[in-house]
Amino acid sequence: MKRRPLILVTPSTDDGGTEFDDQSISLSNRYSDAIIAAGGLPLIFPATTTKPIMAEAVRRCDGVLMTGGDDIDPKLYAKNLPEKLAKKVGPIAPARDIWEPGLIAEIFSRNKPLFGICRGHQMLNVALGGTLLVDIPSQRPESLNHGRMDKKAEPVHEVTIDPGSLLGKLTKRKTLGVNSTHHQAIDKLAPSLRMVATATDGIIEAVELKNAARRPFLLGVQFHPERLFDSNGVFLRLFKQFVQACGPRRRSL
Ligand code: MN
Repeated sequence: MKRRPLILVTPSTDDGGTEFDDQSISLSNRYSDAIIAAGGLPLIFPATTTKPIMAEAVRRCDGVLMTGGDDIDPKLYAKNLPEKLAKKVGPIAPARDIWEPGLIAEIFSRNKPLFGICRGHQMLNVALGGTLLVDIPSQRPESLNHGRMDKKAEPVHEVTIDPGSLLGKLTKRKTLGVNSTHHQAIDKLAPSLRMVATATDGIIEAVELKNAARRPFLLGVQFHPERLFDSNGVFLRLFKQFVQACGPRRRSL
């Protein structure tokens, strides 16, 4: 039987677990459903701040999926946030804010594929030196409503895709309708990243590496393909290409 690539998936933290009310993990099954549908084997790994464990976790898996969740602590990308903006930051997850940048460093040093979704896409930018909009409605009041929690699994706005990007080649689309359940977004792009999709209001909706040819699959998306993969094959293709890039024969597009 063909070996499925092992995909490390980073879950959210939950302060009150079901069994013992301990620090626990929380993750929508949609992420692992999408990885399985794409031919991978998900391994949901709780946040750890121990460096050797981060290193071994990345070494033994074939790729990493960074999922959505809590806001990233703004201390990671901003100094002296105005109080008005600081109040807009939702709950934060301190262990996860150490775990994920540590993982990203290991992913780069071991040249493994990475797929970042929502918070994962934002964390990729922060870990590589970029910044975030703390709250889109406060800082870009003219923007679209990106917080459409009422339609989590439906396209609510369009994005324009760079046809020369990995995302452009995968989707074969210049525009794509996506779901949108975020109040934060990338502000200043990390020097090594380029934006490959934007909403009509200019909000960055997908990023890749500038020198993508020198690395395996790396993609960050602000939308949630794991909620759309079973209704639109375009979104399943993103997971399939990611899982395939994690397999033994790394095929470039
Ligand atoms: Mn959006």
